[in-house]
Amino acid sequence: MAEHEHVRVAVVGSGFGGLGAAVRLRREGITDFVVLERAGSVGGTWRDNSYPGCACDVPSHLYSFSFAPNPDWPRSFSGQEHIRAYLEHVTDTFGLRPHLRFHSEVKRMVWDTERLRWDIETSSGSLSADVVVSATGPLSEPRIPDIPGLDTFPGKVFHSARWDHDYDLRGKRVAMIGTGASAIQIVPAVQPLVSRLTLFQRTPAWVLPRVDRPISAAERALHRTLPLTTQLRRGLLWGVRELQVQAFTKHPRQLGFVEQLAKRNMGRAIKDPDLRAKLTPDYRIGCKRILLSSTYYPALARPNVDVVAAGLREVRGSTLVAADGTETEADAIVFGTGFHVTDMPIAERVVGAEGRTLAETWAGGMQALRGAAAAGFPNWMTIIGPNTGLGNSSMILMIESQLNYLADYLRQLDVLGGRVALDARPSAVRAWNHRVQERMKRTVWNTGGCTSWYLDASGRNTTIWPGTTSEFRRATRRVDLAEYAVLRASSAGSPATPAGASDETAEVTA
Ligand SMILES: Cc1cc2nc3c(=O)[nH]c(=O)nc-3n(C[C@H](O)[C@H](O)[C@H](O)COP(=O)(O)OP(=O)(O)OC[C@H]3O[C@@H](n4cnc5c(N)ncnc54)[C@H](O)[C@@H]3O)c2cc1C
Repeated sequence: MAEHEHVRVAVVGSGFGGLGAAVRLRREGITDFVVLERAGSVGGTWRDNSYPGCACDVPSHLYSFSFAPNPDWPRSFSGQEHIRAYLEHVTDTFGLRPHLRFHSEVKRMVWDTERLRWDIETSSGSLSADVVVSATGPLSEPRIPDIPGLDTFPGKVFHSARWDHDYDLRGKRVAMIGTGASAIQIVPAVQPLVSRLTLFQRTPAWVLPRVDRPISAAERALHRTLPLTTQLRRGLLWGVRELQVQAFTKHPRQLGFVEQLAKRNMGRAIKDPDLRAKLTPDYRIGCKRILLSSTYYPALARPNVDVVAAGLREVRGSTLVAADGTETEADAIVFGTGFHVTDMPIAERVVGAEGRTLAETWAGGMQALRGAAAAGFPNWMTIIGPNTGLGNSSMILMIESQLNYLADYLRQLDVLGGRVALDARPSAVRAWNHRVQERMKRTVWNTGGCTSWYLDASGRNTTIWPGTTSEFRRATRRVDLAEYAVLRASSAGSPATPAGASDETAEVTA
């Protein structure tokens, strides 16, 4: 990396968010940008999660970019390797390679209030940028709970997102910790290989059947020759989920009949009433992410599987002690315990206009204007920021909405002209967040009687968008300048407008 390099835009991360941003920048005619990526290849989630059975739980025709349809998806729910290959293909098709900087982990980003730019330190050198697009991913930093005695365990330990492919699980006694989206894909994939599989379950999941099938050669040929059919398929998948979300956001009681479907799914495979009782959730379906699998329950019913209905409390050598006192001997522990979500790790590395980190600013809970901009952090936008997650549809829809917002943001900077930056007004951030949290109150995520990774340490849902994807699309179509303070560099070298300048009159609508 050249010394004193300056770019118009620095994108951090090369998953769907970062690559999508890169495509969008090029389409806006901006080529003066880099994509900083800590790993050695693109793909984000779909590069890092290579565990056995890893696959998408949104159909591929919806879980892909609208501007890069793939008529050749092999299955209705694609596996990790196909999604990863798709992202490599997008990288090539849209000419993104020259912009990529691999092995460049962003260590620190500091806002320079005089020059109105971000000074960025990476593991491969430093540079500055007018605008930062932070696409470091909501689920990219594995979380391993602090288990007393874990360091005394003589066997193998790894997280689902850092699968050790050199370790042969065949014939081993394996402990799977957690029952989230990754764990329920891993269990059926490894159960036939291992001698004993013990599942540590703090909370059972609601699991619906996964209607997965190969997409036939005829269908693929049709999609190739008539691209409109790919769009139609995507539109249908999207429309069904748009309708479903109303039950999650406004009428959680209507979800009762879905619970019956899930119970029937379990009943088909689990005949033992004790096991069925252990596996039956006591909260409303949808409160935690609904999981899709037709192989999870059949795997749990196999004789080499034990379900311990308690979390892992302690490790004593090769003995795993559950919270209910159950003791299990194991050769390997696989943590399917999720990610640092509500404590976004990049936030500790971003220092804003007042010298505070974003993590300090967000100490009381993450919040950002339209899921993108935080007050006091000018020209810094996050993709999949606070309250942009979805409980039932494709995150790519939300990413593309945020890219619309980014594109308009950059256009607005151009129109304003000169050395200029936009800083979200605290009043606008508060108003947006208030609106989001008000809508959140009656959603299943807040009323369903569970704790989930959507909630932060204080129980506030800072993760999920409490509406339809089309509402979010409308809310992010344009940047409303009234929601921002315009900062201009003064010739004397001091900031013309105090960063985070307040204007209590900004109106915000969602
Ligand atoms: C196992 C799994 C299954 C999932 N399935 C679905 C699904 O079915 N449907 C759905 O909608 N969503 C799903 N998701 C959510 C998924 O994360 C998002 O859909 C999407 O892939 C996120 O893209 P992203 O670019 O924002 O983040 P990521 O794909 O996580 O990419 C972030 C990138 O930033 C890089 N990075 C992080 N920090 C730094 C740094 N400091 N410096 C430089 N680079 C950095 C990372 O290395 C990574 O490459 C799933 C997630 C997981 C983990």
